[in-house]
Amino acid sequence: MEIKIAKSAGFCWGVKRAVKMAVNSLNFEGKTYCLGELIHNRREIERLKALGMEFIDNVSSLKKGSRVIIRSHGVSPKVLSEIKETGAEVVDATCPFVKDVQQKAVKLEKEGYPVLILGNPRHPEIIGIAGHVKEPIIANSIEEVLSLPKMASLGVVCQTTLNINFFKEAVSILLDKVKELKVYNTICNATSVRQKEARELAGSVDLMLIVGGKNSSNTTKLYQISKRVNPNSYHIESKDEIEPEWFKGVEKVGITAGASTPQWVIDEVVDYIRTLEKGGVISGRGVCQTAGREL
Ligand code: SF4
Repeated sequence: MEIKIAKSAGFCWGVKRAVKMAVNSLNFEGKTYCLGELIHNRREIERLKALGMEFIDNVSSLKKGSRVIIRSHGVSPKVLSEIKETGAEVVDATCPFVKDVQQKAVKLEKEGYPVLILGNPRHPEIIGIAGHVKEPIIANSIEEVLSLPKMASLGVVCQTTLNINFFKEAVSILLDKVKELKVYNTICNATSVRQKEARELAGSVDLMLIVGGKNSSNTTKLYQISKRVNPNSYHIESKDEIEPEWFKGVEKVGITAGASTPQWVIDEVVDYIRTLEKGGVISGRGVCQTAGREL
């Protein structure tokens, strides 16, 4: 049986960096906290908890002598100053691409533009970006963009994981509403690259496994894309969810994983398929191979 793994499967650059910074931070005498879930992956969170990291929702537990990780989504300046007031040491793992959006929003405001942020107002990244400007306007649907009033000027930034089609449609609506429009496309290509690869891989294999947290929106999106192309697609969080009957008549298996899925979870899935194959539980031909990247 041939196993093909999408080249971009697993952590994006920003998440990989944040997890590395978080793990390095555990090498510290005092308590290490992370403000919010570091990544949307239950198993990786459990691993970090076992290593001694504590996850908190607010700054009240912080004090001098402790350390706190700011995750890749970033925070608002208000939250950052609240953290600093506690005396805790800050490890800022905000993804530089997210920082860039925050800075662009500030720049637009300084230039006198009202700032529109396209994205989910409940997502921590958007909450952090919005906290950088005085009067942010947030829109998360075409209806919300359509309901905006006519304006003399407007500056636009967007969530790094925004759907490009929504972004294009929103901007074209704004062209009719705003006299002076300044737009920054701040979408990070980590998402679009993953989605393109998932679509292509799903079309070239008999079975697709999409590995990642059920609470991870980017993993769920990959699953939906794959399922449309290949009905024999399954979203799994771990190898334990794999059913041998999925492999009936399967010669090629494709695997991809969301941006918050650690490599070790992907490796477990591959090893498990190989074990099933060796044990004769699933049938296959030839030797497992990877395509696109080395394991
Ligand atoms: S998706 Fe892009 S912006 Fe978001 S953490 Fe990953 S690299 Fe950074």
